[in-house]
Amino acid sequence: MNASPVIRKTRADLQVVPNFSDYDAEQRRFSWDAAARELAKEPGGGINIAFQAVDRHCVAGLRDKPALRFLARGAAARSISYGELAALTNRFCNALRCLGIGKGDRVFILAARIPELYIALLGSLKNGAVVSPLFSAFGPEPIATRVNLGAASVLVTTDTLFARKIAQWRDSMPGLKHVLLVADDGGTTAVPGTLDFATLMASAAQTCTYEATSAEDMALLHFTSGTTGTPKGAVHVHGAAVTHWVTGRYALDLHPDDLYWCTADPGWVTGTSYGVIAPLLHGVTSVVDREEFDAERWYSILQDEGVSVWYTAPTAIRMLMRAGADIAKRYTFAHLRFVASVGEPLNPEAVWWGKDVLGLPIHDNWWQTETGGIMIANTPAFDIKPGSMGRPLPGVEAAIVRRRDDGTVQIVSEPGTQGELALKRGWPSMFRGYLGNEERYRKCFAGDWYLTGDLALRDADGYYWFVGRADDVIKSAGHLIGPFEVESALMEHPAVAEAAVIGKPDPVVGETIKAFVSLNRGFEPDETLRMTLLGHARKRLGAAVAPKEIAFVAQLPHTRSGKIMRRLLKARELGQAEGDTSTLEAGS
Ligand code: ATP
Ligand code: MG
Repeated sequence: MNASPVIRKTRADLQVVPNFSDYDAEQRRFSWDAAARELAKEPGGGINIAFQAVDRHCVAGLRDKPALRFLARGAAARSISYGELAALTNRFCNALRCLGIGKGDRVFILAARIPELYIALLGSLKNGAVVSPLFSAFGPEPIATRVNLGAASVLVTTDTLFARKIAQWRDSMPGLKHVLLVADDGGTTAVPGTLDFATLMASAAQTCTYEATSAEDMALLHFTSGTTGTPKGAVHVHGAAVTHWVTGRYALDLHPDDLYWCTADPGWVTGTSYGVIAPLLHGVTSVVDREEFDAERWYSILQDEGVSVWYTAPTAIRMLMRAGADIAKRYTFAHLRFVASVGEPLNPEAVWWGKDVLGLPIHDNWWQTETGGIMIANTPAFDIKPGSMGRPLPGVEAAIVRRRDDGTVQIVSEPGTQGELALKRGWPSMFRGYLGNEERYRKCFAGDWYLTGDLALRDADGYYWFVGRADDVIKSAGHLIGPFEVESALMEHPAVAEAAVIGKPDPVVGETIKAFVSLNRGFEPDETLRMTLLGHARKRLGAAVAPKEIAFVAQLPHTRSGKIMRRLLKARELGQAEGDTSTLEAGS
């Protein structure tokens, strides 16, 4: 647990009245049934994500309000209003129907963050089809594996990506009935064996009756990041929209006038749950940037687009920190009022950096592909303890547990005790299975508790602190050491941009700690710095927990969703096979 000071929230810090301010009262008051009733009633009592996210607002008078604002280098921004999005997704829904695609059929999308990705995603949901957006940077093999595992009938992609990654491998995806191509030059395509997206859209009707779906009907397939092993295909249902609605309100504090930016790609669950669904459910305008990370570009988007709520990831924040405060000083963030982050532990330094450079602390929150939505969060409603993930949101019951040999769990109620983070079943966006792996799904549960595989502890105030993934925890001389604590201590040093630690087998102490460190600009990876960092860590953590070895690297290996792949560092260090690297970012 980090002893750094608490960031107190006062009314004066808040530019708008937050969606909730009394955490305890909201916890008591909250019920998922009541939250579901806040969304529009649908025929037959069901729920369809696309109807709730798009069409509902057209009825409610937001027809002309921009829903999505697409930015791309060298091109003018393109805004699509809620009314246009309704019409475009109707067309796509109808186009699928013309192809004989309907409820339960699987539509995969492989595209950069272009409008067609969002139209196909929401249009498929309207059609009752199940969608799986993939990272466009995936190579042919990870694409084919996922398409086959997910039994995809349709693949939506671009002509360029098709030529590079699908054409030669199409025979290895025998279940694929249709490939729809978006022309990268904005025109039409005529590639044998494929259909042209623009032509299909133009010939499809602009009005349609969406497919009524129940809360339990499958809506999305999301593959996990593959940080700890082969990615798993998590099944999500239409009822998940209730979680997206609620967490958009509590954890992102979305208000109707917000200009919102989620930097995640829809190939990662964050980019779908919070880059598409949650902001649309709240009727806000989102910016979508097609380009990859670039410090200057990102600051200028925050400034020029007038972003008010920003949801990003620790790796991106650390890259901004590495780029230096001088760049940030050239910009002003007059509209920015709330910043949140997910995906990795957020070291306290990064929370404070937000306060110094953006004028706002960064609010860490925790969730997983499997949970479908944010579960534990720092919100505007309560003080931040930098280094903590925050507190369970209303409707979420969390606990620290220990697994027993008989498959049951014991709840650890003593504050400050480390154990596995578990969540009580019952939130609507919980995954309903791992594709093709029922056994593994069952093993995630002990009675009513979903076991997350993450180790954490809860303090006396109910804040949760991430310790590490169960797979990454290091056992050294009788201590259980969470990598996050060691990494955070290293990142306190001004030379360190990012750090990852692993355990190396040792005959005497079980495992010794080795740290991999990338440096900030202006620091040399030499022996003097190595000794300084070893000394800094020892002083900060004590000899038993401090790393024994430090290796300097230009860059740590990351997944495409921005997570450090410690297992890869370990495999490389021990000369073992690297395992599944399908989600590894290029150059890592
Ligand atoms: P795989 O399950 O395939 O190994 P993954 O767990 O990285 O991949 P995701 O579902 O994208 O796949 O990531 C969820 C995990 O990310 C969490 O279980 C946790 O380990 C980590 N995580 C997410 N948010 C936070 C956070 N705020 N603090 C610490 N860790 C986080
Ligand atoms: Mg996981």
